[in-house]
Amino acid sequence: MQVPQTGSSSCALSVVIPVYNEEAGLDALVARVTAATAAIFADRYELILINDGSKDRSWAKIRAHAERDPRIVAIDLARNHGHQLALTAGLHHVRGELVFVLDADLQDPPELLGPMLAKLSEGHDVVYGQRIKRHGETAFKRGSAALFYRMLGKLVDTHIPPDTGDFRLMTRRVVEQLNAMPERYRFIRGLVSFVGFSQVPFPYERDARFAGETNYPLRKMVALAIDAVTSFSVVPLRFASHLGMLFGLAGLVSLAGIVWVWMQGGTVQGWASLAALILIMGSVQLLVLGVFGEYLGRMYMEAKHRPLFIIAEVRRHPVAGIAAVPDDPAQSIAGSTGEAIRVAG
Ligand code: UDP
Ligand code: MG
Repeated sequence: MQVPQTGSSSCALSVVIPVYNEEAGLDALVARVTAATAAIFADRYELILINDGSKDRSWAKIRAHAERDPRIVAIDLARNHGHQLALTAGLHHVRGELVFVLDADLQDPPELLGPMLAKLSEGHDVVYGQRIKRHGETAFKRGSAALFYRMLGKLVDTHIPPDTGDFRLMTRRVVEQLNAMPERYRFIRGLVSFVGFSQVPFPYERDARFAGETNYPLRKMVALAIDAVTSFSVVPLRFASHLGMLFGLAGLVSLAGIVWVWMQGGTVQGWASLAALILIMGSVQLLVLGVFGEYLGRMYMEAKHRPLFIIAEVRRHPVAGIAAVPDDPAQSIAGSTGEAIRVAG
Protein backbone atom coordinates (compact mmCIF):
# COMPACT_ATOMS: atom_id res chain seq x y z
CA MET A 1 0.00 0.00 0.00
CA GLN A 2 1.32 3.41 -0.98
CA VAL A 3 1.24 5.66 2.04
CA PRO A 4 1.19 9.37 1.15
CA GLN A 5 4.55 10.95 1.92
CA THR A 6 4.70 14.52 3.01
CA GLY A 7 7.79 16.51 3.74
CA SER A 8 6.56 18.89 6.39
CA SER A 9 4.14 16.88 8.48
CA SER A 10 4.84 13.65 10.26
CA CYS A 11 1.14 12.99 10.52
CA ALA A 12 -0.16 11.32 7.38
CA LEU A 13 -3.66 10.51 8.57
CA SER A 14 -6.14 11.84 11.11
CA VAL A 15 -8.99 9.57 12.09
CA VAL A 16 -11.89 11.58 13.50
CA ILE A 17 -14.62 9.96 15.60
CA PRO A 18 -17.38 11.76 17.52
CA VAL A 19 -18.46 9.88 20.62
CA TYR A 20 -21.72 10.19 22.53
CA ASN A 21 -22.58 7.63 25.20
CA GLU A 22 -20.50 4.91 23.54
CA GLU A 23 -18.87 3.53 26.69
CA ALA A 24 -19.81 -0.07 25.92
CA GLY A 25 -18.16 -0.21 22.51
CA LEU A 26 -15.27 2.21 22.99
CA ASP A 27 -12.50 -0.30 23.74
CA ALA A 28 -13.43 -2.41 20.73
CA LEU A 29 -13.55 0.75 18.63
CA VAL A 30 -10.07 1.89 19.64
CA ALA A 31 -8.67 -1.63 19.17
CA ARG A 32 -10.12 -2.07 15.70
CA VAL A 33 -9.30 1.42 14.47
CA THR A 34 -5.76 1.19 15.84
CA ALA A 35 -5.18 -2.20 14.21
CA ALA A 36 -6.55 -1.08 10.85
CA THR A 37 -4.71 2.24 10.85
CA ALA A 38 -1.37 1.20 12.30
CA ALA A 39 -1.13 -1.61 9.74
CA ILE A 40 -0.85 1.03 7.02
CA PHE A 41 0.50 4.14 8.74
CA ALA A 42 2.51 2.72 11.68
CA ASP A 43 2.75 5.72 14.02
CA ARG A 44 2.29 8.41 11.39
CA TYR A 45 -1.36 8.92 12.24
CA GLU A 46 -3.51 10.37 14.99
CA LEU A 47 -6.85 9.16 16.29
CA ILE A 48 -9.03 12.05 17.42
CA LEU A 49 -11.87 11.06 19.75
CA ILE A 50 -14.35 13.82 20.53
CA ASN A 51 -16.50 13.34 23.59
CA ASP A 52 -19.78 15.09 22.83
CA GLY A 53 -20.95 15.60 26.40
CA SER A 54 -21.57 11.91 27.06
CA LYS A 55 -23.55 11.04 30.17
CA ASP A 56 -21.80 7.71 30.64
CA ARG A 57 -18.11 7.00 31.25
CA SER A 58 -17.04 7.58 27.63
CA TRP A 59 -14.79 10.53 28.50
CA ALA A 60 -12.94 8.68 31.26
CA LYS A 61 -12.31 5.84 28.81
CA ILE A 62 -11.17 8.18 26.04
CA ARG A 63 -8.78 9.88 28.45
CA ALA A 64 -7.35 6.58 29.58
CA HIS A 65 -6.77 5.56 25.96
CA ALA A 66 -5.06 8.89 25.23
CA GLU A 67 -2.77 8.41 28.21
CA ARG A 68 -1.79 4.95 27.07
CA ASP A 69 -1.32 5.67 23.37
CA PRO A 70 0.37 8.93 22.26
CA ARG A 71 -1.34 8.71 18.87
CA ILE A 72 -4.72 9.26 20.48
CA VAL A 73 -5.98 12.82 20.87
CA ALA A 74 -8.82 13.30 23.36
CA ILE A 75 -11.16 16.26 23.00
CA ASP A 76 -13.88 16.96 25.53
CA LEU A 77 -16.70 19.30 24.54
CA ALA A 78 -18.27 21.39 27.26
CA ARG A 79 -21.71 19.84 26.64
CA ASN A 80 -23.60 17.83 24.06
CA HIS A 81 -23.43 19.68 20.74
CA GLY A 82 -24.88 16.99 18.46
CA HIS A 83 -23.14 14.72 15.99
CA GLN A 84 -22.45 17.26 13.24
CA LEU A 85 -20.90 19.88 15.52
CA ALA A 86 -18.90 17.28 17.44
CA LEU A 87 -17.49 16.12 14.13
CA THR A 88 -16.81 19.75 13.21
CA ALA A 89 -14.84 20.18 16.43
CA GLY A 90 -12.73 17.14 15.50
CA LEU A 91 -12.15 18.39 11.97
CA HIS A 92 -10.79 21.65 13.37
CA HIS A 93 -8.05 19.71 15.14
CA VAL A 94 -6.77 17.47 12.37
CA ARG A 95 -3.12 17.64 11.43
CA GLY A 96 -2.97 14.73 9.02
CA GLU A 97 -2.63 15.03 5.26
CA LEU A 98 -5.62 12.74 4.95
CA VAL A 99 -8.71 12.63 7.12
CA PHE A 100 -10.81 9.56 7.79
CA VAL A 101 -14.19 10.07 9.44
CA LEU A 102 -16.23 7.31 11.01
CA ASP A 103 -18.88 6.65 13.64
CA ALA A 104 -18.02 5.36 17.09
CA ASP A 105 -20.39 2.40 16.96
CA LEU A 106 -18.39 0.40 14.40
CA GLN A 107 -21.22 0.52 11.87
CA ASP A 108 -18.63 1.77 9.42
CA PRO A 109 -15.85 -0.85 9.36
CA PRO A 110 -12.44 0.80 10.00
CA GLU A 111 -10.82 -2.02 8.03
CA LEU A 112 -12.11 -0.39 4.84
CA LEU A 113 -9.42 2.28 5.25
CA GLY A 114 -7.03 0.27 3.04
CA PRO A 115 -9.36 -0.15 0.06
CA MET A 116 -10.62 3.43 0.41
CA LEU A 117 -7.05 4.68 0.44
CA ALA A 118 -6.33 2.69 -2.71
CA LYS A 119 -9.31 4.37 -4.36
CA LEU A 120 -8.19 7.82 -3.18
CA SER A 121 -4.72 7.33 -4.60
CA GLU A 122 -6.29 6.98 -8.05
CA GLY A 123 -6.37 10.76 -7.88
CA HIS A 124 -9.50 11.70 -5.92
CA ASP A 125 -10.06 14.06 -3.04
CA VAL A 126 -12.98 12.34 -1.39
CA VAL A 127 -13.91 8.69 -1.17
CA TYR A 128 -17.31 8.47 0.50
CA GLY A 129 -18.92 5.35 1.85
CA GLN A 130 -22.18 4.52 0.12
CA ARG A 131 -24.36 2.02 1.92
CA ILE A 132 -25.53 -0.79 -0.29
CA LYS A 133 -26.89 -2.73 2.65
CA ARG A 134 -27.72 -1.75 6.20
CA HIS A 135 -27.62 -4.48 8.76
CA GLY A 136 -29.58 -4.17 11.96
CA GLU A 137 -31.56 -1.10 10.95
CA THR A 138 -35.33 -1.04 10.97
CA ALA A 139 -37.41 -0.97 7.79
CA PHE A 140 -38.69 2.40 8.97
CA LYS A 141 -35.17 3.86 9.20
CA ARG A 142 -34.25 2.48 5.77
CA GLY A 143 -37.52 3.71 4.23
CA SER A 144 -37.31 7.18 5.74
CA ALA A 145 -33.66 7.51 4.67
CA ALA A 146 -34.58 6.55 1.09
CA LEU A 147 -37.45 9.05 1.05
CA PHE A 148 -35.23 11.76 2.52
CA TYR A 149 -32.52 11.41 -0.12
CA ARG A 150 -35.09 11.38 -2.92
CA MET A 151 -36.67 14.58 -1.59
CA LEU A 152 -33.29 16.21 -1.08
CA GLY A 153 -32.31 15.39 -4.66
CA LYS A 154 -35.39 17.23 -5.91
CA LEU A 155 -34.95 20.33 -3.74
CA VAL A 156 -31.23 20.91 -3.84
CA ASP A 157 -28.89 22.04 -6.61
CA THR A 158 -25.72 20.61 -5.06
CA HIS A 159 -25.64 16.90 -5.84
CA ILE A 160 -25.69 15.13 -2.49
CA PRO A 161 -25.23 11.42 -3.19
CA PRO A 162 -27.92 9.18 -1.68
CA ASP A 163 -27.30 6.60 1.04
CA THR A 164 -24.18 8.21 2.40
CA GLY A 165 -23.31 9.08 5.95
CA ASP A 166 -20.26 10.84 7.24
CA PHE A 167 -18.05 7.81 6.65
CA ARG A 168 -15.41 9.09 4.23
CA LEU A 169 -11.73 9.58 3.49
CA MET A 170 -10.76 13.08 2.43
CA THR A 171 -7.67 15.03 1.57
CA ARG A 172 -6.62 17.89 3.76
CA ARG A 173 -7.61 20.56 1.27
CA VAL A 174 -11.23 19.41 1.44
CA VAL A 175 -11.20 19.60 5.24
CA GLU A 176 -9.65 23.07 5.10
CA GLN A 177 -12.53 24.21 2.91
CA LEU A 178 -15.03 22.66 5.33
CA ASN A 179 -13.38 24.38 8.26
CA ALA A 180 -13.61 27.69 6.45
CA MET A 181 -17.41 27.43 6.30
CA PRO A 182 -18.76 29.29 9.31
CA GLU A 183 -22.33 28.04 9.25
CA ARG A 184 -23.92 26.67 12.37
CA TYR A 185 -26.53 24.39 10.85
CA ARG A 186 -24.15 21.89 9.36
CA PHE A 187 -25.10 19.00 7.16
CA ILE A 188 -21.53 17.89 6.68
CA ARG A 189 -22.04 15.35 3.90
CA GLY A 190 -23.75 18.13 1.92
CA LEU A 191 -20.95 20.59 2.66
CA VAL A 192 -18.40 18.04 1.42
CA SER A 193 -20.35 17.69 -1.84
CA PHE A 194 -20.46 21.47 -2.08
CA VAL A 195 -16.65 21.68 -1.90
CA GLY A 196 -16.25 19.70 -5.11
CA PHE A 197 -12.91 18.36 -6.46
CA SER A 198 -13.06 14.73 -7.44
CA GLN A 199 -15.39 12.67 -5.23
CA VAL A 200 -16.13 9.00 -5.73
CA PRO A 201 -18.40 6.53 -3.93
CA PHE A 202 -17.17 3.47 -2.14
CA PRO A 203 -19.98 0.90 -1.84
CA TYR A 204 -20.03 -0.96 1.46
CA GLU A 205 -22.32 -2.90 3.71
CA ARG A 206 -23.18 -1.04 6.87
CA ASP A 207 -22.88 -3.24 9.93
CA ALA A 208 -25.21 -3.29 12.87
CA ARG A 209 -24.26 -1.21 15.89
CA PHE A 210 -21.52 -2.93 17.90
CA ALA A 211 -22.98 -1.93 21.28
CA GLY A 212 -25.40 0.53 22.83
CA GLU A 213 -28.27 2.05 20.93
CA THR A 214 -28.78 4.67 18.27
CA ASN A 215 -28.43 8.31 19.28
CA TYR A 216 -30.47 9.35 16.27
CA PRO A 217 -34.10 8.95 17.25
CA LEU A 218 -36.77 10.15 14.83
CA ARG A 219 -36.70 13.66 16.30
CA LYS A 220 -32.99 14.12 15.52
CA MET A 221 -33.38 12.57 12.07
CA VAL A 222 -36.14 15.06 11.22
CA ALA A 223 -33.97 17.90 12.56
CA LEU A 224 -31.06 16.76 10.39
CA ALA A 225 -33.36 16.54 7.36
CA ILE A 226 -34.61 20.10 7.96
CA ASP A 227 -31.01 21.29 8.35
CA ALA A 228 -30.13 19.59 5.08
CA VAL A 229 -32.97 21.14 3.12
CA THR A 230 -32.73 24.64 4.58
CA SER A 231 -28.92 24.72 4.31
CA PHE A 232 -28.92 23.89 0.65
CA SER A 233 -32.19 25.11 -0.78
CA VAL A 234 -34.55 28.06 -0.76
CA VAL A 235 -37.13 26.16 -2.80
CA PRO A 236 -39.51 25.85 0.20
CA LEU A 237 -39.68 29.66 0.33
CA ARG A 238 -41.06 29.60 -3.19
CA PHE A 239 -43.87 27.25 -2.20
CA ALA A 240 -45.75 30.29 -0.96
CA SER A 241 -45.99 31.89 -4.38
CA HIS A 242 -46.73 28.57 -6.06
CA LEU A 243 -49.52 27.82 -3.60
CA GLY A 244 -50.82 31.38 -3.98
CA MET A 245 -51.04 30.94 -7.74
CA LEU A 246 -52.72 27.57 -7.39
CA PHE A 247 -55.40 28.79 -4.99
CA GLY A 248 -55.88 31.98 -6.99
CA LEU A 249 -56.54 29.90 -10.07
CA ALA A 250 -58.95 27.65 -8.20
CA GLY A 251 -60.77 30.76 -6.95
CA LEU A 252 -61.13 32.18 -10.46
CA VAL A 253 -62.46 28.89 -11.80
CA SER A 254 -65.04 28.60 -9.03
CA LEU A 255 -66.03 32.26 -9.47
CA ALA A 256 -66.61 31.61 -13.17
CA GLY A 257 -68.76 28.62 -12.23
CA ILE A 258 -70.81 30.70 -9.78
CA VAL A 259 -71.38 33.44 -12.37
CA TRP A 260 -72.38 30.81 -14.89
CA VAL A 261 -74.94 29.27 -12.53
CA TRP A 262 -76.24 32.77 -11.64
CA MET A 263 -76.73 33.57 -15.32
CA GLN A 264 -78.86 30.44 -15.61
CA GLY A 265 -81.01 31.90 -12.85
CA GLY A 266 -79.77 29.71 -10.02
CA THR A 267 -77.68 30.24 -6.85
CA VAL A 268 -74.83 28.14 -5.54
CA GLN A 269 -75.50 26.70 -2.07
CA GLY A 270 -72.79 25.78 0.32
CA TRP A 271 -71.83 27.68 3.47
CA ALA A 272 -70.35 24.51 4.90
CA SER A 273 -67.94 24.18 2.00
CA LEU A 274 -67.05 27.86 2.46
CA ALA A 275 -66.17 27.27 6.09
CA ALA A 276 -64.00 24.29 5.12
CA LEU A 277 -62.24 26.39 2.49
CA ILE A 278 -61.50 29.15 4.99
CA LEU A 279 -59.99 26.61 7.36
CA ILE A 280 -57.85 25.10 4.61
CA MET A 281 -56.66 28.52 3.48
CA GLY A 282 -55.88 29.53 7.04
CA SER A 283 -53.82 26.41 7.57
CA VAL A 284 -51.94 26.86 4.30
CA GLN A 285 -51.10 30.44 5.24
CA LEU A 286 -49.83 29.41 8.65
CA LEU A 287 -47.77 26.60 7.16
CA VAL A 288 -46.14 29.00 4.73
CA LEU A 289 -45.49 31.43 7.56
CA GLY A 290 -43.90 28.56 9.45
CA VAL A 291 -41.53 27.88 6.57
CA PHE A 292 -40.60 31.57 6.45
CA GLY A 293 -40.09 31.50 10.19
CA GLU A 294 -37.78 28.51 9.91
CA TYR A 295 -35.47 30.38 7.55
CA LEU A 296 -35.74 33.61 9.50
CA GLY A 297 -34.88 31.84 12.76
CA ARG A 298 -31.85 30.27 11.16
CA MET A 299 -30.68 33.64 9.86
CA TYR A 300 -31.09 35.01 13.37
CA MET A 301 -29.07 32.19 14.92
CA GLU A 302 -26.35 32.47 12.28
CA ALA A 303 -26.18 36.24 12.72
CA LYS A 304 -25.12 35.84 16.35
CA HIS A 305 -21.80 34.30 15.28
CA ARG A 306 -21.52 32.24 18.40
CA PRO A 307 -18.74 29.66 18.42
CA LEU A 308 -19.77 26.40 16.77
CA PHE A 309 -18.53 24.38 19.70
CA ILE A 310 -17.11 24.89 23.14
CA ILE A 311 -14.12 22.86 24.18
CA ALA A 312 -13.50 21.95 27.79
CA GLU A 313 -10.24 20.12 27.30
CA VAL A 314 -7.86 18.79 24.69
CA ARG A 315 -5.40 16.06 25.58
CA ARG A 316 -2.62 15.54 23.11
CA HIS A 317 0.66 13.86 23.79
CA PRO A 318 3.55 16.40 23.97
CA VAL A 319 5.62 14.73 21.28
CA ALA A 320 2.55 14.76 19.11
CA GLY A 321 2.82 18.54 19.07
CA ILE A 322 0.57 21.49 19.83
CA ALA A 323 -2.69 21.03 21.61
CA ALA A 324 -5.19 23.21 19.82
CA VAL A 325 -5.67 26.15 17.53
CA PRO A 326 -6.63 28.76 20.12
CA ASP A 327 -7.49 31.66 17.81
CA ASP A 328 -9.74 29.63 15.57
CA PRO A 329 -13.01 31.62 15.43
CA ALA A 330 -15.09 28.45 15.06
CA GLN A 331 -14.35 27.32 18.55
CA SER A 332 -14.26 28.56 22.04
CA ILE A 333 -12.14 27.05 24.72
CA ALA A 334 -13.67 27.18 28.14
CA GLY A 335 -11.80 29.06 30.82
CA SER A 336 -8.53 30.68 29.97
CA THR A 337 -6.93 29.10 26.95
CA GLY A 338 -3.76 27.97 28.64
CA GLU A 339 -5.60 26.43 31.52
CA ALA A 340 -8.05 24.47 29.45
CA ILE A 341 -5.52 22.80 27.22
CA ARG A 342 -3.95 20.03 29.17
CA VAL A 343 -1.40 17.88 27.57
CA ALA A 344 -1.18 14.28 28.60
CA GLY A 345 2.21 12.86 29.21
N1 UDP B 1 -23.10 11.22 18.21
C1 UDP B 1 -22.57 12.38 18.77
N2 UDP B 1 -23.43 13.27 19.37
C2 UDP B 1 -24.79 13.07 19.44
C3 UDP B 1 -25.31 11.91 18.83
C4 UDP B 1 -24.44 11.02 18.22
O1 UDP B 1 -21.37 12.60 18.74
O2 UDP B 1 -25.49 13.92 20.01
C5 UDP B 1 -22.18 10.27 17.56
C6 UDP B 1 -22.32 8.81 17.99
O3 UDP B 1 -21.54 8.51 19.12
C7 UDP B 1 -21.83 8.09 16.75
C8 UDP B 1 -22.30 8.98 15.61
O4 UDP B 1 -22.51 10.27 16.20
O5 UDP B 1 -20.43 8.03 16.69
C9 UDP B 1 -23.57 8.48 14.94
O6 UDP B 1 -24.59 8.29 15.91
P1 UDP B 1 -25.51 6.99 15.90
O7 UDP B 1 -24.68 5.78 15.66
O8 UDP B 1 -26.32 7.01 17.15
O9 UDP B 1 -26.44 7.28 14.66
P2 UDP B 1 -27.03 6.21 13.60
O10 UDP B 1 -25.89 5.39 13.11
O11 UDP B 1 -28.02 5.41 14.37
O12 UDP B 1 -27.64 7.07 12.54
MG1 MG C 1 -24.67 4.39 14.24
